[in-house]
Amino acid sequence: MTHILIVEDESRITDFLAKGLRASGFTITPASNGEEASAIALDGNIDLMLLDLGLPGQGGLGLLQELRGQGFQAPVIILTARSGIDDKVAGFELGADDYLTKPFRFEELLVRIRARLRTSSSPSTSDAQAAMLTAGDIVLDLRTRRVSVSGKPIDLSAREFTLLETFMRHPEQVLSRQHLLDLVWGYDYEPGSNVVDVYVGYLRKKLGSNRIETVRGMGYRFVP
Ligand code: CA
Repeated sequence: MTHILIVEDESRITDFLAKGLRASGFTITPASNGEEASAIALDGNIDLMLLDLGLPGQGGLGLLQELRGQGFQAPVIILTARSGIDDKVAGFELGADDYLTKPFRFEELLVRIRARLRTSSSPSTSDAQAAMLTAGDIVLDLRTRRVSVSGKPIDLSAREFTLLETFMRHPEQVLSRQHLLDLVWGYDYEPGSNVVDVYVGYLRKKLGSNRIETVRGMGYRFVP
């Protein structure tokens, strides 16, 4: 069983994460402060750590630095309300593997966790391939967040990337606007917004218009 350490001082968030992750087949150990987390991380058999930056005391970044200094090697995904670029840079410098800004969709967290676990289990070519999502001539690298079409690199924003990833995970399936909003935007959008149509437009412009079909009255279908 894959063992995930959740370091978070807000029990509401810990409960939400633990419930979802247990339902997805993970073993969960929660820790609400740095001291507790440090003991579990260095002593236990942890495969991955979810780390809140806004912890009491030394804070999440301090804890991460301390753990990496003591040889803790499992992948670390930072979860934080702050979207400041400085925190992000500091987090990566201190040895974080990925970064998710609250609020986020649980499904997005799950995708990131699985990608991290695949790439960390052994850094071989086959694992690198497992972090690749391919549909026809489109290749997404989930680790480097790079995209190419017919071998040519394409520049996508974070949201465009997540939208394309969502389409590629559901090929030939009609996805409604509401479903796409839930999966890609979470609660981070205005009700009644046409943001899905706008972003599908961006993707069509960058990937070619024939890849995402409009299914009238229903939504969109990705055709690899
Ligand atoms: Ca917190």
